[in-house]
Amino acid sequence: MATLWRSIALALLCVAGVAAHADQAFSMPTYRDAAQVDADCQRMLADLKLQREALAQMPGQPGRELLASFDALTRRVQATLGPIDLLAAVHPEKAVRDACDACDLAFQAFISEFNQDPRLFALLGQMQPLDEIDRGYRRDLVESFEDAGVALAPAAQARVRELNSEITERSQEFERRMREDQTKVAFTAAELKGVPRALWHAAPRDAKGRTLLGVDEAIAIPVLQGAESAVARERMWRALYAVGGEANLQTLAQLATLRREYAKQFGFDSYADLVLRRRMVQRETDAQAFLTSVKDAVRARELADLAELRAAKARHLQTPLEATTLRRWDVAFYLERTRRARFKVEQEQFRAALPPDAALKFLFNLAHTLFGITFTPTRQTLWHPDVRAFEVRDDAQQVRLGTLYLDLYPREGKVSSGAFVAPIRDASTLVGQRPAAALVTNLDRKGLTLNDLSGTLLHEFGHALHALLSQTRYAGQGGTNVKLDFVEAPSQMLEDWVYEPRVMALHALGCPRCKPVPPELLARADQARHFGDGIAYARQHLYASYDLAVYGKADPAAPRDPMAIWIAMEGATPLGHVPGSRLPASFGHIASNYAAGYYSYLWSLVLAADLRTAFAADRLDAATGARYRRTVLENGGQVPPAELMQQFLGRPSNSKAFFENLSGTGAGPSQLRIGSKMLATPDTKESRP
Ligand SMILES: [Zn+2]
Repeated sequence: MATLWRSIALALLCVAGVAAHADQAFSMPTYRDAAQVDADCQRMLADLKLQREALAQMPGQPGRELLASFDALTRRVQATLGPIDLLAAVHPEKAVRDACDACDLAFQAFISEFNQDPRLFALLGQMQPLDEIDRGYRRDLVESFEDAGVALAPAAQARVRELNSEITERSQEFERRMREDQTKVAFTAAELKGVPRALWHAAPRDAKGRTLLGVDEAIAIPVLQGAESAVARERMWRALYAVGGEANLQTLAQLATLRREYAKQFGFDSYADLVLRRRMVQRETDAQAFLTSVKDAVRARELADLAELRAAKARHLQTPLEATTLRRWDVAFYLERTRRARFKVEQEQFRAALPPDAALKFLFNLAHTLFGITFTPTRQTLWHPDVRAFEVRDDAQQVRLGTLYLDLYPREGKVSSGAFVAPIRDASTLVGQRPAAALVTNLDRKGLTLNDLSGTLLHEFGHALHALLSQTRYAGQGGTNVKLDFVEAPSQMLEDWVYEPRVMALHALGCPRCKPVPPELLARADQARHFGDGIAYARQHLYASYDLAVYGKADPAAPRDPMAIWIAMEGATPLGHVPGSRLPASFGHIASNYAAGYYSYLWSLVLAADLRTAFAADRLDAATGARYRRTVLENGGQVPPAELMQQFLGRPSNSKAFFENLSGTGAGPSQLRIGSKMLATPDTKESRP
């Protein structure tokens, strides 16, 4: 019996084509046209159907072989869909991007059906796990079958499949409208006073000679932060919060209805309760209770911050305080202005100190010091000449760990705002598969601000390290395949590192020609970034509460339409709602896989603050770094997050550091960028199945 079964397992691995040549670097398909994508996608679907049938024929009482075969399927999916899901966001050709979206849709149809297959579910029920890792992976697989409705009546199963594809289709449509947004806003040169000239002088002009700017964050944020003209700021602000349009509002309303119906099929009143039972928080009420505790801690600070900005506006315009009203498009401007005046720090001044290549070198040096790994460039033909590939090796053992792709600069057709890491494929020690991941940003080629370095590049690098340093038995549990409310913690933890002079000394060492960043400037930047934390946290709190209001249990008296909910909730904040603005139309997170999950950003800040306590004595301590790598990063999703935290910290995790930071007694929370359109895309993409 065992022999027969092993031959099936081997056949499955051969179909997956990953067992041989395990030490070869991963090579990324580039796809010159849509037909190539379609062909690869069809091949993948055909392979998956074969693998499914072979799996279903497996004899009873299986052991680890069963899990290995399920994981072979995951790896087969990653081999094709890993690259395709990434290219849907970054490929220069629209036809290719559309074909990638279509492939994802076809895969959703397959996986919905797969996860409802009673034969496969029965096999999982019969298997005997050998250890905790197998037990955990089996539980993950069982849950994916349960969540797909394997136990439902046939009519309900069919409806769940329909709902799944419709949800995928609608959320793709939502993302596409944002990605392909062509909004241009016209400004006179006088209106752009205060905005660094280098950012706009080469932009196209209209017939009247006005400068035409897009609404991507590389330019929208500097306009909101810098433009002296309130009229110009308001124009940009309104354009920014019109992206997605009425069409996306309708799509979001449809998504809310579809997800509610989806939850109903499983006997849940709310989509939040359905998904949160698989997260650290477990229940909607737990997430709400957490948000309430944050709100109470933040409220007074938010009001104090706003009062200070209003006073700054009155001084700036020389108007009486009582006659001065702070508008939404004033917030980023007066935050920046006050910050500059008080702390003498301008983010723009860091660009000369942080050219992109030097910033990268700094990240690599940091990873080398802290985690004992080395990044080496490797030649590959990729989807765009800007994109670069690096091999990651372990210094002590001199073994290859994985491949990292970097796509750093904006261009036409590429997802235009935010940054993310796409895990292309995940580690599996069972078959020697090494991970590959792509880090995508929209940075300025001329240099980075300190905010870019900390909140964007280092943050995303944290996700990439999570993916690349993973040593999990199963690819399905590799890297960032962790609970959604844990996935941000390792990245948020690292953001703070740049404010430590000893850490930044690594940068000076790696780039002697870069303009130096003196320690006292760094200290002022550190203080400056916490100015306005009350406003930033309150905003994050609002986004998280809004997400739960859209996808949570309905108050029968409250509106159900997402825009009506937003108007009511934003209307209740100190600055109120601006009629005509429609932020939910570009709230890509809650249209896609962060639906009922946006609270994770605040939640994982609690975990990040706690993780950071272990590095309090020395941010560059290699022994702590090695322990962190071994416990937290290498284990990916194969150990529950609370247990990883306990193993690493030597005690159960708690929220002490987070609330100390919030009340201003600690070293300060990780930065939340206010005014930044950090709503565009989820910054990690969940792998599947
Ligand atoms: Zn992130």
